[in-house]
Amino acid sequence: TRLRTFFAAMSTNPSPSSAVPAVMQRLEKGELPWGSVFSDKMLTMSWTKSAGWEPPRIVPYGPLALPPSAAVFHYAMEVFEGLKAYRNVDAGDGPVRLFRPQLNIKRLNHSARRLALPTVDENKFLNTLAAFVDEQQHWVPNIPGSSLYLRPTLIATDARIGVRRSDSALLYVIASPVASFFANKSALGAKYQKGLSLLADPKYVRAWKGGVGNCKTGGNYASSIEPTEVAKEKGHDQILWLSDEKRQLVTEVGMMNVFFVFRDAATGRRKLVTPRLDGTILDGVTRRSILELAPGMNIEAEERDISIMEVCKGVRNGKISEIFGAGTAAVVSPVHKVETPGGIVAVKQKEASGDLSVILRERLVDIHQSGEEHQWMVPV
Ligand code: PMP
Repeated sequence: TRLRTFFAAMSTNPSPSSAVPAVMQRLEKGELPWGSVFSDKMLTMSWTKSAGWEPPRIVPYGPLALPPSAAVFHYAMEVFEGLKAYRNVDAGDGPVRLFRPQLNIKRLNHSARRLALPTVDENKFLNTLAAFVDEQQHWVPNIPGSSLYLRPTLIATDARIGVRRSDSALLYVIASPVASFFANKSALGAKYQKGLSLLADPKYVRAWKGGVGNCKTGGNYASSIEPTEVAKEKGHDQILWLSDEKRQLVTEVGMMNVFFVFRDAATGRRKLVTPRLDGTILDGVTRRSILELAPGMNIEAEERDISIMEVCKGVRNGKISEIFGAGTAAVVSPVHKVETPGGIVAVKQKEASGDLSVILRERLVDIHQSGEEHQWMVPV
């Protein structure tokens, strides 16, 4: 409450921004490019080695002033997070809640430790984040499937060239209203419903044991752009990332965790398989949520190594009936095709209502935006 009063007092313009209605209209029409429009305020927290974290501030969204020598620009000392604030759409203009923010904050700290950046007090930062979203709550869309995407970003700001731990850092949070990847009217929605086409080329490796694959750090994403462009030139949507080992293991799909549905021909029972967290894979909040939901839905789930050979064989002989990606942005994205050096395997041409990808997506979307009380939804 003290923080909220403090933020309210700091707020230069406490009334909702006049830009909101037009943004919501564009969102509803599927005309708002993902992550291109931001709310009018941002949260900032400075850190120094000597004084620790300064009190959080809410300031107008705008450029940061940083010296060109700032460590972030030279050594990619940056980590970030991505989570969503949802409105309960069943209750009309219902309350705003965050989906499992504690896991994102834990992961932020995990990434920060590996990139030599300061960590936050998890409870305090959750309160600060909730107070920020509360202050900006008119930016949380009251549209099914849409949400306010939050991007906490932590950067090293020491104005000194030299590879060393930074004595100063900045943590800021920006917020972007986003539509569902499945928004019916958007071209993107149609594409994702049809399923993703993937390129699995062992030439490209996203992460390796002992590296930073399980951290959300900018370099992991910068280095994925060029291979993804190559995939797109070949008519695919994303890369199916393989491990840097003789037995090429499947690790992730694009910027999502990957799931395979195995079907037992005799019993018809289905089982979810996802690669185990071996240090090269991001510990996704959506992945973890699916693994935790599965037993209650009478679905067996297993975390284990799975090679590209096993995937190709499994799809061809019908043991694998579905492949899908899981992540905050698109929730669940089915895959319809994988191209490997050994040939193309076709998974599925269109989603069907009994697919596990559909059932799991609907369950997650219900938790996000229906009136259901759920321990994963944290009110702001
Ligand atoms: N893998 C990578 C590489 C990602 O960037 C993301 C998105 N954060 C995920 C998986 C999915 O994680 P989450 O479910 O937490 O969004």
